[in-house]
Amino acid sequence: MMRFAYLGSGSKGNAAVIEAGKTRVLLDCGFGLRDTERRLQRLGLAPDDLAAILVTHEHDDHLGGVARLARRHQIPVWLTSGTLRAWRDATGVTTRVISPHEAFVIDDLQIQPYPVPHDAQEPCQYVFGDGAQRIGVLSDTGMATPHIRANLSACDALLIEFNHDVDMLENGPYPDSLKRRVGGERGHLSNRQAADLLASIDCSRLRHLALAHLSETNNRPELALALAAEALGCTPDWLNCAEQDAGLDWRQLS
Ligand SMILES: [Zn+2]
Ligand SMILES: [Zn+2]
Repeated sequence: MMRFAYLGSGSKGNAAVIEAGKTRVLLDCGFGLRDTERRLQRLGLAPDDLAAILVTHEHDDHLGGVARLARRHQIPVWLTSGTLRAWRDATGVTTRVISPHEAFVIDDLQIQPYPVPHDAQEPCQYVFGDGAQRIGVLSDTGMATPHIRANLSACDALLIEFNHDVDMLENGPYPDSLKRRVGGERGHLSNRQAADLLASIDCSRLRHLALAHLSETNNRPELALALAAEALGCTPDWLNCAEQDAGLDWRQLS
Protein backbone atom coordinates (compact mmCIF):
# COMPACT_ATOMS: atom_id res chain seq x y z
CA MET A 1 0.00 0.00 0.00
CA MET A 2 1.27 3.45 -0.90
CA ARG A 3 0.10 6.89 0.08
CA PHE A 4 1.32 10.47 -0.11
CA ALA A 5 0.63 13.90 1.38
CA TYR A 6 1.98 17.43 1.17
CA LEU A 7 3.12 19.45 4.17
CA GLY A 8 2.86 22.41 1.82
CA SER A 9 3.75 23.43 -1.72
CA GLY A 10 4.52 26.72 -3.47
CA SER A 11 7.34 29.21 -3.91
CA LYS A 12 7.55 29.83 -0.13
CA GLY A 13 8.29 26.21 0.72
CA ASN A 14 7.77 22.63 -0.39
CA ALA A 15 7.67 19.26 1.36
CA ALA A 16 5.82 16.02 0.64
CA VAL A 17 5.67 12.66 2.37
CA ILE A 18 5.73 9.42 0.38
CA GLU A 19 4.96 6.14 2.11
CA ALA A 20 5.16 2.48 1.08
CA GLY A 21 4.58 -0.28 3.61
CA LYS A 22 6.39 0.74 6.76
CA THR A 23 8.72 3.20 5.03
CA ARG A 24 8.15 6.91 4.93
CA VAL A 25 10.36 9.58 3.37
CA LEU A 26 10.17 13.34 3.25
CA LEU A 27 10.66 14.84 -0.20
CA ASP A 28 12.32 18.26 0.21
CA CYS A 29 11.84 20.57 3.19
CA GLY A 30 11.46 24.28 2.63
CA PHE A 31 9.94 25.02 6.04
CA GLY A 32 11.50 25.96 9.38
CA LEU A 33 11.96 23.35 12.08
CA ARG A 34 8.94 24.17 14.26
CA ASP A 35 6.76 24.71 11.21
CA THR A 36 7.83 21.36 9.74
CA GLU A 37 7.13 19.55 13.01
CA ARG A 38 3.71 21.18 13.18
CA ARG A 39 2.92 20.27 9.58
CA LEU A 40 4.05 16.66 10.15
CA GLN A 41 1.86 16.48 13.23
CA ARG A 42 -1.10 17.61 11.14
CA LEU A 43 -0.55 14.41 9.09
CA GLY A 44 -0.23 12.26 12.21
CA LEU A 45 3.56 11.98 11.90
CA ALA A 46 6.60 12.79 14.01
CA PRO A 47 10.08 13.45 12.56
CA ASP A 48 11.25 10.09 13.89
CA ASP A 49 8.77 8.39 11.54
CA LEU A 50 10.90 9.50 8.57
CA ALA A 51 13.50 7.05 7.22
CA ALA A 52 15.11 9.67 5.01
CA ILE A 53 14.88 13.11 3.49
CA LEU A 54 15.22 13.18 -0.31
CA VAL A 55 16.21 16.46 -1.90
CA THR A 56 15.45 17.53 -5.48
CA HIS A 57 17.77 20.57 -5.67
CA GLU A 58 19.35 23.33 -3.60
CA HIS A 59 16.80 26.13 -3.97
CA ASP A 60 15.66 27.48 -0.64
CA ASP A 61 12.01 26.50 -1.04
CA HIS A 62 13.18 22.85 -1.16
CA LEU A 63 16.41 22.70 0.86
CA GLY A 64 16.00 25.62 3.28
CA GLY A 65 14.68 23.54 6.20
CA VAL A 66 16.55 20.28 5.57
CA ALA A 67 19.71 20.83 7.63
CA ARG A 68 18.04 21.68 10.92
CA LEU A 69 15.48 18.90 10.66
CA ALA A 70 18.11 16.33 9.64
CA ARG A 71 20.53 17.32 12.42
CA ARG A 72 17.92 17.57 15.13
CA HIS A 73 16.35 14.20 14.39
CA GLN A 74 19.33 12.35 12.90
CA ILE A 75 17.64 11.73 9.54
CA PRO A 76 19.90 10.85 6.57
CA VAL A 77 19.64 13.09 3.50
CA TRP A 78 19.79 11.68 -0.04
CA LEU A 79 20.82 14.01 -2.85
CA THR A 80 22.96 14.37 -5.99
CA SER A 81 26.61 15.38 -5.73
CA GLY A 82 25.83 18.68 -7.47
CA THR A 83 23.14 19.52 -4.92
CA LEU A 84 25.49 18.58 -2.10
CA ARG A 85 28.21 20.86 -3.50
CA ALA A 86 25.76 23.76 -3.67
CA TRP A 87 24.57 23.18 -0.09
CA ARG A 88 26.29 25.54 2.34
CA ASP A 89 24.78 24.09 5.49
CA ALA A 90 25.52 20.34 5.37
CA THR A 91 27.83 20.22 8.40
CA GLY A 92 26.77 17.50 10.82
CA VAL A 93 24.23 16.02 8.41
CA THR A 94 24.47 12.39 7.30
CA THR A 95 24.36 12.49 3.51
CA ARG A 96 23.99 9.78 0.85
CA VAL A 97 25.03 10.82 -2.63
CA ILE A 98 22.92 9.42 -5.48
CA SER A 99 23.27 9.38 -9.24
CA PRO A 100 20.24 11.01 -10.90
CA HIS A 101 20.17 8.04 -13.29
CA GLU A 102 20.38 5.10 -10.89
CA ALA A 103 17.50 3.55 -8.98
CA PHE A 104 17.96 2.86 -5.27
CA VAL A 105 15.97 1.37 -2.41
CA ILE A 106 15.16 2.65 1.07
CA ASP A 107 13.56 -0.24 2.95
CA ASP A 108 10.09 -0.77 1.37
CA LEU A 109 10.45 2.11 -1.11
CA GLN A 110 11.92 1.73 -4.59
CA ILE A 111 13.11 5.06 -5.91
CA GLN A 112 13.99 6.06 -9.47
CA PRO A 113 15.55 9.52 -9.75
CA TYR A 114 15.65 11.34 -13.07
CA PRO A 115 17.29 14.62 -14.11
CA VAL A 116 15.28 17.71 -15.10
CA PRO A 117 16.20 21.01 -16.79
CA HIS A 118 16.15 23.63 -14.02
CA ASP A 119 18.50 26.43 -13.01
CA ALA A 120 20.24 24.50 -10.21
CA GLN A 121 23.50 22.51 -10.08
CA GLU A 122 22.21 18.96 -10.54
CA PRO A 123 18.43 18.92 -10.05
CA CYS A 124 16.50 15.65 -10.16
CA GLN A 125 12.98 14.45 -9.53
CA TYR A 126 11.74 11.04 -8.42
CA VAL A 127 9.38 8.16 -9.12
CA PHE A 128 8.53 6.09 -6.05
CA GLY A 129 7.30 2.50 -6.13
CA ASP A 130 6.58 -0.53 -3.98
CA GLY A 131 6.79 -3.13 -6.75
CA ALA A 132 3.07 -2.92 -7.51
CA GLN A 133 2.29 0.79 -7.77
CA ARG A 134 4.18 3.97 -8.65
CA ILE A 135 3.96 7.61 -7.60
CA GLY A 136 5.65 10.06 -9.99
CA VAL A 137 6.76 13.49 -8.81
CA LEU A 138 7.74 16.44 -11.00
CA SER A 139 8.34 20.05 -10.04
CA ASP A 140 10.89 22.73 -10.83
CA THR A 141 11.44 21.95 -14.48
CA GLY A 142 11.48 24.40 -17.36
CA MET A 143 10.04 21.90 -19.81
CA ALA A 144 8.95 18.31 -20.28
CA THR A 145 11.67 16.22 -21.95
CA PRO A 146 11.16 12.78 -23.54
CA HIS A 147 13.05 11.32 -20.56
CA ILE A 148 10.61 12.99 -18.13
CA ARG A 149 7.64 11.64 -20.12
CA ALA A 150 9.09 8.12 -20.07
CA ASN A 151 9.55 8.22 -16.29
CA LEU A 152 6.05 9.56 -15.57
CA SER A 153 4.15 7.26 -17.92
CA ALA A 154 1.85 4.63 -16.43
CA CYS A 155 2.06 5.93 -12.85
CA ASP A 156 -0.80 5.33 -10.39
CA ALA A 157 -0.41 8.80 -8.89
CA LEU A 158 1.24 11.96 -10.21
CA LEU A 159 2.32 15.04 -8.27
CA ILE A 160 2.95 17.63 -10.96
CA GLU A 161 4.01 21.25 -10.98
CA PHE A 162 1.44 23.69 -12.37
CA ASN A 163 3.52 26.78 -11.60
CA HIS A 164 2.04 29.69 -13.49
CA ASP A 165 -0.49 30.91 -15.97
CA VAL A 166 1.47 32.39 -18.88
CA ASP A 167 -0.70 35.52 -19.13
CA MET A 168 -0.65 36.17 -15.37
CA LEU A 169 3.15 35.83 -15.35
CA GLU A 170 3.50 38.13 -18.37
CA ASN A 171 1.20 40.81 -16.94
CA GLY A 172 2.14 40.30 -13.29
CA PRO A 173 4.43 42.22 -10.90
CA TYR A 174 7.67 40.23 -11.37
CA PRO A 175 10.65 42.13 -12.86
CA ASP A 176 11.38 41.17 -16.49
CA SER A 177 14.49 39.16 -15.58
CA LEU A 178 12.52 37.00 -13.16
CA LYS A 179 9.68 36.57 -15.67
CA ARG A 180 12.21 35.27 -18.18
CA ARG A 181 13.75 32.93 -15.61
CA VAL A 182 10.42 31.47 -14.43
CA GLY A 183 9.08 31.09 -17.96
CA GLY A 184 12.37 29.88 -19.45
CA GLU A 185 13.56 26.40 -20.38
CA ARG A 186 15.30 25.96 -17.02
CA GLY A 187 12.52 27.58 -15.00
CA HIS A 188 9.07 26.27 -14.12
CA LEU A 189 6.20 24.52 -15.90
CA SER A 190 3.25 26.68 -16.90
CA ASN A 191 -0.26 25.31 -16.55
CA ARG A 192 -0.32 24.72 -20.30
CA GLN A 193 3.02 22.89 -20.33
CA ALA A 194 1.94 20.67 -17.44
CA ALA A 195 -1.40 19.90 -19.10
CA ASP A 196 0.35 19.09 -22.39
CA LEU A 197 2.67 16.76 -20.50
CA LEU A 198 -0.32 14.92 -19.01
CA ALA A 199 -1.97 14.66 -22.41
CA SER A 200 1.20 13.16 -23.91
CA ILE A 201 1.87 10.33 -21.44
CA ASP A 202 0.13 7.07 -20.54
CA CYS A 203 -2.40 7.98 -17.83
CA SER A 204 -4.36 4.71 -18.04
CA ARG A 205 -3.36 3.71 -14.49
CA LEU A 206 -3.72 7.19 -13.02
CA ARG A 207 -5.99 7.40 -9.95
CA HIS A 208 -4.57 10.46 -8.16
CA LEU A 209 -3.36 13.74 -9.57
CA ALA A 210 -2.04 16.44 -7.25
CA LEU A 211 -1.24 19.85 -8.72
CA ALA A 212 1.76 21.32 -6.94
CA HIS A 213 4.10 24.32 -6.74
CA LEU A 214 1.39 26.77 -7.82
CA SER A 215 2.57 30.38 -7.76
CA GLU A 216 0.47 32.50 -5.43
CA THR A 217 1.34 35.54 -7.57
CA ASN A 218 1.07 34.16 -11.09
CA ASN A 219 -1.57 31.46 -10.89
CA ARG A 220 -5.02 30.58 -9.60
CA PRO A 221 -6.02 27.04 -8.65
CA GLU A 222 -9.13 27.10 -10.83
CA LEU A 223 -7.07 27.93 -13.95
CA ALA A 224 -4.66 25.06 -13.29
CA LEU A 225 -7.44 22.61 -12.40
CA ALA A 226 -9.40 23.46 -15.54
CA LEU A 227 -6.45 22.74 -17.84
CA ALA A 228 -5.54 19.53 -16.01
CA ALA A 229 -9.13 18.30 -16.19
CA GLU A 230 -9.29 19.11 -19.89
CA ALA A 231 -6.04 17.22 -20.54
CA LEU A 232 -7.29 14.13 -18.72
CA GLY A 233 -10.89 14.35 -19.88
CA CYS A 234 -12.22 14.37 -16.32
CA THR A 235 -14.00 16.81 -14.03
CA PRO A 236 -11.89 19.15 -11.84
CA ASP A 237 -13.41 17.83 -8.59
CA TRP A 238 -11.50 14.59 -9.18
CA LEU A 239 -8.21 16.52 -8.88
CA ASN A 240 -6.39 18.10 -5.95
CA CYS A 241 -4.19 21.16 -5.48
CA ALA A 242 -1.44 21.06 -2.87
CA GLU A 243 -1.61 24.41 -1.09
CA GLN A 244 1.14 26.59 0.36
CA ASP A 245 -0.25 26.64 3.89
CA ALA A 246 -2.71 23.74 4.06
CA GLY A 247 -0.65 21.30 1.98
CA LEU A 248 -2.65 18.25 0.93
CA ASP A 249 -4.01 15.58 3.24
CA TRP A 250 -3.15 11.91 2.72
CA ARG A 251 -4.12 10.33 -0.57
CA GLN A 252 -4.08 6.56 -0.49
CA LEU A 253 -3.53 4.42 -3.56
CA SER A 254 -6.10 1.65 -3.58
ZN1 LIG B 1 10.78 25.31 -6.16
ZN1 LIG C 1 13.87 25.44 -7.97
